[in-house]
Amino acid sequence: MNSLKQRAQALKRWILTQNSTIDTTDARRSGQVATLLMMVFGVAMAFGMTPGVSVQTVPLAPVIEDMTANLGTATPTPGTFIQQDQIRSGDTLAALLFRMGVSDQAALDFIASDPKARVIYQHMAPGKPIRVEHAANGDLVSLRFPYGDKGTLVVSRTLSGFSSSLVGEGDLRRIIQANGTIHSSLFAAADSAGIPDSVTHQLTRLFSTDIDFHNDLRSGDTFSVVYEATQNDFDQLVPGKILAAEFVNKGVTIRRVYYENAEGGDYYTPDGHGSKASFLRSPIEFSRITSGFSAARFHPILKTWRAHKGIDLAAPKGTPIVAVANATVTYAGWRNGYGNMIELHHANGIDTVYGHLSAFAGGLHSGEKIHQGDLIGYVGMTGWATGPHLHYEFKINGVQHDPLGPEVPRFASTNLTGHARTQFLSATAPYLKQLDAVRGSAFASFE
Ligand SMILES: [Zn+2]
Repeated sequence: MNSLKQRAQALKRWILTQNSTIDTTDARRSGQVATLLMMVFGVAMAFGMTPGVSVQTVPLAPVIEDMTANLGTATPTPGTFIQQDQIRSGDTLAALLFRMGVSDQAALDFIASDPKARVIYQHMAPGKPIRVEHAANGDLVSLRFPYGDKGTLVVSRTLSGFSSSLVGEGDLRRIIQANGTIHSSLFAAADSAGIPDSVTHQLTRLFSTDIDFHNDLRSGDTFSVVYEATQNDFDQLVPGKILAAEFVNKGVTIRRVYYENAEGGDYYTPDGHGSKASFLRSPIEFSRITSGFSAARFHPILKTWRAHKGIDLAAPKGTPIVAVANATVTYAGWRNGYGNMIELHHANGIDTVYGHLSAFAGGLHSGEKIHQGDLIGYVGMTGWATGPHLHYEFKINGVQHDPLGPEVPRFASTNLTGHARTQFLSATAPYLKQLDAVRGSAFASFE
């Protein structure tokens, strides 16, 4: 075994147990120790090697002992330091890095200009952890920063400068279960159940063919969810996909379970029927229908009675609009009354129309093939519109139907049969059992 690596691991564990933060004098002192040792032993600075030594509030003497011990081995001592600290209120990135012993303008310039790395500025909330590896002269070697629900942002020194990447950190997989009861809104219930937003969004997508989240939710509706998460190296749980979920809406119980076979992963009913939506129930999440589908209504601008052959979904300007199913774009441009409009052609003679957009998704053009869930544009109020909303039409063989009506096809047929179904049942049984267990329990977590 690589004893250096083991030591680095032990040190990492130790650092993670320390809540105290380092001040500049500690950092400088540690830097001096390293410089001194390098002078004494003539060890060249090497980037990208296994980190072996550190810092934080380690007293001077033990650090020297550690490093001396390392130098006694055949492996050269890496001349870098690893530090973890927390963002404090009022911190600038430069001040924070300086406090951790980093003094590197090139690194700051890179972070400010790199599209991926500069997102760090939007996430500089007090209390958030950050970890850096730096050389004794203050050069940044690498930086790790938790990035929302997405994992860890890593900025690393390369031969020619710096690079940034987003890694789904951690190999410690956990399975988490939670349940909630709706009193005011789904998101409020999910919040009080400790369910991350990314999981709640998955939940709404998962049940979007069965439940109209705009109109169908009732106080007293309940939901349970079993989802996977990985523990990142800041000991934070990064949520992943839902493995099983249940929604009890107006007394009706609906369950879905995730299953992966050779064709890929998908959600099924507990008895093996594919539950993939042929058409999403709505092209935007969480809006309010301000005008339904009708044969005739009083038009607010034309001041006459006219049929409204679509539905109006009120949403703030800029709300993303997604394709409700796989499609070919047949129109993306201005059309009188509709303003900025998109028309999509789907299989089986179905077309959908999206009107009053403020903008189109970048590069969207007629003839383009797109997938269900792809961003196509943004809500606006171009054309004849009195406020920001999406006008949405659903046509079958050229005739408009109510997008929420029974004519809209719901499911693709991906039913499992025979041996495939037997395998499915045994593979998904544990998750469904967890769903049974989580019903009625407040909150639980298990391996
Ligand atoms: Zn309309």
